[in-house]
Amino acid sequence: MKCYAMLGIGKTGWIEKDKPQCGPLDAIVKPIAVSPCTSDIHTVWEGAIGERHDMVLGHESVGEVVEVGNLVRDIKVGDKVLVPAITPDWNALESQGGFSMHSGGMLSGWKFSNFKDGVFAEFYHVNDADGNLAVLPEGLDPACAVMLSDMVPTGLHGAELADIKFGDTVCVIGIGPVGLMSVAGAAIKGASQLYAVGSRPNCVQAAREYGATDIINYREGDIVDQIMDKTHGKGVDKVIIAGGDNDTFIQAIKMMKPGGIIGNVNYLGSGDYVKIPRVEWGCGMGHKTIAGGLMPGGRLRMEKLASLLVTGRIDVSKLITHKFNGFEHIEEALLLMKDKPADLIKPVVVM
Ligand code: NDP
Ligand code: ZN
Repeated sequence: MKCYAMLGIGKTGWIEKDKPQCGPLDAIVKPIAVSPCTSDIHTVWEGAIGERHDMVLGHESVGEVVEVGNLVRDIKVGDKVLVPAITPDWNALESQGGFSMHSGGMLSGWKFSNFKDGVFAEFYHVNDADGNLAVLPEGLDPACAVMLSDMVPTGLHGAELADIKFGDTVCVIGIGPVGLMSVAGAAIKGASQLYAVGSRPNCVQAAREYGATDIINYREGDIVDQIMDKTHGKGVDKVIIAGGDNDTFIQAIKMMKPGGIIGNVNYLGSGDYVKIPRVEWGCGMGHKTIAGGLMPGGRLRMEKLASLLVTGRIDVSKLITHKFNGFEHIEEALLLMKDKPADLIKPVVVM
């Protein structure tokens, strides 16, 4: 089969591979729509998870099931399915402990385009089909449904990690597609003043539509100063980080009130350490928590998050700025994600 792969750090291209084999609990899926992720960019061009050779890229997809294992009960051949980016082993002890995303070891629930071939192929393998696949709700556009693989669950996980409460003042740092879903999540969870940090006009416009009350442009001055000005020196209750770099944590700690929580979903692609400013961290006694996490994955979460789209609580169509028709456009879509032109939020490739 034809696939689009990471050939090595800094290199991608089309390759041929054998069609994957289906185990007793698994499914083989043919993509209907896929989308590249900023994480694919960290993986290939920053070498963030180390060297990989001829590994098929991509972890965001909606597809049609073409084969199931003999122990699969609920998912059938021909089902159109939502496929989460994170596909845990649900029997693992980590899953039983509530950390499915780390089933089998740290970050090991993230399999596609990390430990195994991803979804930019004519066919891909899904482990634990009943535990990880959800049937695509009728009437949901597959291009929109692809946002359920990663953008919606990761962005919303930022709001969960930061434990947003009714009336909290919140700053979301980074308003690419992930951060925009964090803005939407924070708004749903009850944020009052909601500051969104970004610069590209498209993203700024979308952030306002998803519920941001104020925009902070990080290119026009220090974001801590801007937040402190707007909050009369008090800072915010919670911060969600969905962009920036390792030093963004310094800013997040500084702009947050004692008792605050940082929910980080940004993928730190390089550098060895994250610094914490001692004084603003209350000399270690400020009750300022840093919670960083990979989204949980799995079927129930897919079903629940899909219901937010079906009921109109979240309109993901605003995220999709570029739509391609045909498998051969995967490379173009991935390179858009790498170059981030001003008018891009998220591209989708429909087969
Ligand atoms: P984008 O690159 O589209 O968005 C990044 C955002 O951060 C943009 O709004 C950008 O602003 C802003 N930004 C960049 N530099 C700074 C800075 N110095 N200070 C403040 N803001 C800044 O990324 P995505 O939304 O696609 O992804 C966000 C992150 O989430 C990525 O690191 C990605 O790998 C990660 N991710 C994590 C997952 C997880 O499970 N934890 C899953 C999926 C993604 P501008 O408007 O100027 O572009
Ligand atoms: Zn991703």
